[in-house]
Amino acid sequence: MKEIVIISGKGGTGKTTFAAAFAVLAADEVVVADCDVDAADMHLLLGPDFGHAEAFVSGETAVIDPESCNGCDRCGEVCQFDAVRLVDGAHVIDPIACEGCGYCARVCPEAAITSEPRQVGHWYRSRLSTGGTMVHARLGIGADNSGKLVTRVKNEARRVAGELGRELVLVDGSPGVGCPVVASLAGASLVVLVTEPTVSGRHDLERVHELVRRFDIPCACILNKSDLNPDVRRQLLDHLAAHDVTLLAEFPYDEAFTAAITAGRSIVDEDPDRRRDLAAVWTRITRLLEPEEART
Ligand code: SF4
Ligand code: SF4
Repeated sequence: MKEIVIISGKGGTGKTTFAAAFAVLAADEVVVADCDVDAADMHLLLGPDFGHAEAFVSGETAVIDPESCNGCDRCGEVCQFDAVRLVDGAHVIDPIACEGCGYCARVCPEAAITSEPRQVGHWYRSRLSTGGTMVHARLGIGADNSGKLVTRVKNEARRVAGELGRELVLVDGSPGVGCPVVASLAGASLVVLVTEPTVSGRHDLERVHELVRRFDIPCACILNKSDLNPDVRRQLLDHLAAHDVTLLAEFPYDEAFTAAITAGRSIVDEDPDRRRDLAAVWTRITRLLEPEEART
């Protein structure tokens, strides 16, 4: 099984637009994984049916039994996260602030504090109108275990692909270079970097490319809004050439992309010319998965 991961060093480059376009073009040949769990929005373009949902549990939260509590406030004194609150004269723990360290339970003289598994979000297995399958997730408010949830989404996508006999998983990764991106990259066969020629775009592309090189994963690049800044575009092309990164395509700024997002549809469903262009890019991407000798 192969895995293509689409990432960008920063948000707003068009990463999800391209990932959704490839998901539509590949239809039921791929299982799609939306691993941008902190700002999941691929579903807005692909319209999954949220057919199967499961809670995602990670870590623990302290809970006070009001019947056993004597109000001594030892828990509040030791909590480093200001998670113990007085509500109507009773000690309660704010589940968003609680880090689950367990210190309060150790000092409680009445053994009134226990730990419960923390539900931090949900993940879904959905059907797409293309006939494809998508695994995606939603983090709860204040939840911060996104690296673990990314790993869960990826693992479920691989499992579903195996179950359906699909050979390809297409991952929309997180922007940036943090823990969720590292989790997105684990086990990738090919990384597609999406960038734009702005000063911040070039800086962030170089940072995320450095990360990908540490994993020693082959990568290619799509240069979006390529006409924004000719000087930075040149610098980006020089960087790609210096590191032997395949330039898959350049797309000049085009309001059709924004119009498609506003309509809640993939660009390939809205614009026949872009569909043709992106189908050619998808063919190039899948060719890069083949052994080098098979490409010539
Ligand atoms: S330490 Fe235990 S008994 Fe004291 S206020 Fe906290 S929960 Fe109640
Ligand atoms: S488990 Fe740790 S963070 Fe949570 S309330 Fe107790 S001391 Fe505070």
